[in-house]
Amino acid sequence: MSHSSTPDSKSNSQNQADSNSGFSLPKIYDPSVEEPRWQDFWRRRDLYKFDSVDSSKPTYSIDTPPPYPSGDFHVGNALNWSYIDFVARYQRMKGYNVHFPQGWDCHGLPTEVRAEQTFKIRKNDLPPSQFIEICRKLSEEYIQRMKEAIMRLGTSCDWKLEYRTMDPEYYKLTQLSFVVLYKSGYMYRGEHPVNWCPRDETAIAEAEVVHIERQGLLYYMKFGNDDNSLEIASTRPELLGACVAIAVHPEDTRYSKRVGRSTIVPVFGQKIPVIADEEVDPTFGTGAVMVCTFGDKMDVKWQKKHGLPVIKEITENGRIDTSDPRFKGLKIEEARRKVVEELKKAGRILREEPVKQNIGTCWRCNTPVEIISRPQWFMKTKQMTDEVTASADQLRWVPPFSKKRLIDWTQSLDWDWVVSRQRIFGTPIPVWYCKKCDETLVADENHLPSDPRRDPPPREKCPKCGSSDLKGDTDVFDTWMDSSISAAVHAGWPSDKALFVKLFPADLQPNGLDIVRTWDYYLLVRSLAIFHKAPYKTLLINGMVRGTDGRMMHKSYGNFVETGEVIKKLGADAFRQWAASGGATGYDIPFRWNEAEHGKKFLTKLWNIARFITQDSTTGANAPKLTQPSTIDRWLLGSLQELITTVTNAFDNFQFNTAIEAVRDFTWHSLADDYLEAVKYRLQPDSNPTDSRNARFCLKQSLLVICKLLAPICPHITEAIYQEMQEVRERRSIHSDGWPEPDKSFQDNVQMQEGKLLVEAIATARRKKSEKGLSLKSPIRKVIIKTQPSHLGMFEANQEPILRTIKAESLAVEETPSSEEGTTGLTVEIVP
Ligand SMILES: [Zn+2]
Ligand SMILES: [Zn+2]
Repeated sequence: MSHSSTPDSKSNSQNQADSNSGFSLPKIYDPSVEEPRWQDFWRRRDLYKFDSVDSSKPTYSIDTPPPYPSGDFHVGNALNWSYIDFVARYQRMKGYNVHFPQGWDCHGLPTEVRAEQTFKIRKNDLPPSQFIEICRKLSEEYIQRMKEAIMRLGTSCDWKLEYRTMDPEYYKLTQLSFVVLYKSGYMYRGEHPVNWCPRDETAIAEAEVVHIERQGLLYYMKFGNDDNSLEIASTRPELLGACVAIAVHPEDTRYSKRVGRSTIVPVFGQKIPVIADEEVDPTFGTGAVMVCTFGDKMDVKWQKKHGLPVIKEITENGRIDTSDPRFKGLKIEEARRKVVEELKKAGRILREEPVKQNIGTCWRCNTPVEIISRPQWFMKTKQMTDEVTASADQLRWVPPFSKKRLIDWTQSLDWDWVVSRQRIFGTPIPVWYCKKCDETLVADENHLPSDPRRDPPPREKCPKCGSSDLKGDTDVFDTWMDSSISAAVHAGWPSDKALFVKLFPADLQPNGLDIVRTWDYYLLVRSLAIFHKAPYKTLLINGMVRGTDGRMMHKSYGNFVETGEVIKKLGADAFRQWAASGGATGYDIPFRWNEAEHGKKFLTKLWNIARFITQDSTTGANAPKLTQPSTIDRWLLGSLQELITTVTNAFDNFQFNTAIEAVRDFTWHSLADDYLEAVKYRLQPDSNPTDSRNARFCLKQSLLVICKLLAPICPHITEAIYQEMQEVRERRSIHSDGWPEPDKSFQDNVQMQEGKLLVEAIATARRKKSEKGLSLKSPIRKVIIKTQPSHLGMFEANQEPILRTIKAESLAVEETPSSEEGTTGLTVEIVP
């Protein structure tokens, strides 16, 4: 079966429409045929192209997340992209010129680590240019795979807007944003301790540190001389060589005589002061704590506050740097064992006890992070806390609780954002330094992109000392430096000022809850610093997808589901229904096969309804037309208007589960169970022509509206049915048709009430037949309907639909003997 079959060649399909009948939709809905067919149909029409030239339509811009090209488009990604696509398609139908780009965040550790693993090399084994080439190739391969998955999901992005952060056209803008921020004083270089991954040999930001709990050992060690000793507890005896002080709480009477004096570090032998600081926890260990440069953030604070010296004991590749031959060159773990051994030999270990530790690890390789000081580039984000908080407060957050995550994060940060990385595959830092006087030379804005690892400096000589001994920066930027200008880059910054006005800030910032504190945060600080406003208006935050057993989805748990597997089995429209219906926006949702299967069942139901309705191709005088609609017609059309209002509100509020449930409920129950059953007799050849035209009109109208309301969530099947309903096929797509507006003339409350009552009476009579073991088709003698006086007339006027639907010979309508006010007092009896 050809997957490229198009509507032009649909009769070639094996699953042919019934010949010699009114049906032209194939008998079975087969997503593996229909979905690629309509995707091709959209591609050929370039349907999702952003009109950048002369659109009079208002724009709706989306700052689509650029994923890491990992090759995997997992269910979590697919949930995120489903949400984005629901909004994009909805806004497009609402008449917006939708800007829906797709990019790739190529740089950074994930790709480098993968390159190292794939080719069994370390980053420094090859010249940088060759290592970069390997990373580029890997990225391209993975991008292709993910792109296919995004397309297969039916995502309506505009591929003409595709970008890759590893391309010079893009990273040139990353560099430009740095130069702009350098000039305005937001960027500075300095030697400050930062989080460091010894495995990846690079600085990492606070957002890249993952805290884990683990079991460790607390060593109680004896400092000082035998006659004047001090007991200290620590989990990291390997840092003794970098110990620069002992700190105690100023009110801890155990140590009040010690403060201001000194003691001796065991094994290493340096003399260090005992200091007092309010932030010492007197209840931990012995209440006296070693200050090492640097064991943790507290050490960094104390070192600065008390003007202590810095001893760099741990190297960038996680080894011990000391003149002591017993420890020199050992790895951190080995050093710990060795130091403990030496302490024991010297009788300096008093006891050991197990302790729960909370340690920071590298987000990428799980190695425990160290704190290492060396020159780095920073952005002054610490001073922006109030500005970020105030700005976040003014934005629309869906769900609202996600705002707190960003505000809590910004307020918890201790350090400025370290933007330099000691890696290779990244945007080069466009800076040179004078080797003689350390002056900084930043690239000229007009000479970007620039790679100081090979390009000459902007001037031949140092402007400060005249030396021509200049060297380029060999570091690269944190990959969030690339992706945190995405909204501005989409909007044509800096060259297209007219477009920028239209597209910036983005209308929608859609991403997972897991990157609120990174992507959303970095976008916000960069945009506030460069453009003095937030880069987005509404944040649509999706929860994480859990495995089939409710735990986090992980390959090792056996609860992992591939997006491609679901689409292959059930189709993209079924998967997208799961995405919409799985849970409230912003909350974690488990992947459930039965929900996706339920989606597929609904598509089959809709397909069958559509096949039934579209077989009517009557034209001319007998074409479907509404004249003097009956009670039940008015009820259906009135319910349809209510549905439009419900679904529109749901999409406006990003409540996709409400939207899909409302459409499915209407289709399955109001249209198929209630209306269709009650008008079947009107579709017979011998029926009254007006009744028939009205019924056929109502059916077609409902089907059309259902398709439109469903189009953002199930784009493929709705297009297939919509095309079937058009007199001239393929002229336009449902996705460029307008969004339905409710017709107020059908929203008469009294008539809706009466219609509901009539439908309820018919449904009750049918249920009673089935309870009595009668088939729906078997005739009965009588139906007795009892109701309040005000409804008697309506039931009498609707004798025909009641009798013909229930197959009863006669109808008796009686007044309910007594019924509470406000209730319908409806009872229905049947006499077989
Ligand atoms: Zn690492
Ligand atoms: Zn100089």
